[in-house]
Amino acid sequence: IVVISKDLGIIEQCKTAISEWLKSVGLEIKPEKTRICHTLNPIEYNGKTEEPGFDFLGFNIRQYPVGKYKSGKTGGGNSRLIGHKTYIKPSNKAVTAHTEVIKGVIQQHKTAPQSALIGKLNPIIRGWSNYYSAVVSTETFNKLDSIVWLMLRAWTISRCGKASYEKLGNYFHKGTVKLSNGKERHESWLFKTKDGLTLWQHNWTPLVRHTIIRPDATPYDGNWTYWATRKGQAIDTPNRVAKLLKKQKGKCAWCGQYITPSDLIEVDHIVPRSLGGKDEYKNLQLLHRHCHDDKTALDNAKAVSLTMEQSD
Ligand SMILES: [Zn+2]
Repeated sequence: IVVISKDLGIIEQCKTAISEWLKSVGLEIKPEKTRICHTLNPIEYNGKTEEPGFDFLGFNIRQYPVGKYKSGKTGGGNSRLIGHKTYIKPSNKAVTAHTEVIKGVIQQHKTAPQSALIGKLNPIIRGWSNYYSAVVSTETFNKLDSIVWLMLRAWTISRCGKASYEKLGNYFHKGTVKLSNGKERHESWLFKTKDGLTLWQHNWTPLVRHTIIRPDATPYDGNWTYWATRKGQAIDTPNRVAKLLKKQKGKCAWCGQYITPSDLIEVDHIVPRSLGGKDEYKNLQLLHRHCHDDKTALDNAKAVSLTMEQSD
């Protein structure tokens, strides 16, 4: 829960009211998880200095002082400068946790083929970047890509040894990639196998401006017509989608990230119909459209290798 008010007294009253309300259902506020802070300035509270801004659902939300040229305006007849700007960014905690996940996967794949490592990392990187694509993430994405590069260089060196440093060239290539928005990017390094399987980079995810959501709407109210219309997407089976979303606790079954209201989603057959999978509830899952593309590519590759095994 986030409570925002310009009046500290109101915030404190809310805290009391929330405690009372939680008590009635046998719960209580965890003091170590509760913070009272200001969104622009550091404050002294309970003998502690609280830094400005707060983390929520993996995002850091705070305001930054800006000069008059970058400042927002209040609008209206007597419009005046606000003097600060609100930025939502990936929280430091979320960035660290994500880096740890990537590090763990790279360690687990010390001796595995490059393709296995890329196949494991891609959904993690794409899913994470997608979750943060509607906020101020460019700086974080670039920072993460250089960290991943360092980790992969170490992974490569541990396989081929420092003596054969030039063997790095077997794993890293220069190249051009085409992004989902049609733009091309020239990269000085791509972590790429000889047959073209390429590691996804965080900063390939186009940042999209968030569209304001109707204040009383939530994806959990089952009103899929609203969400579908908002995205310009036709969902023909809203019940199925709502049911799956509930079953998956709001997360994509491929990348594990929360499905946000602006995500394009698709219903996938876990076992593809081409491999005998049935069109029944337990064989269905909800995926982001880009995750669905990844999975279908993998399903097709599996189908090919299955056919090859059968003919062997
Ligand atoms: Zn996903």
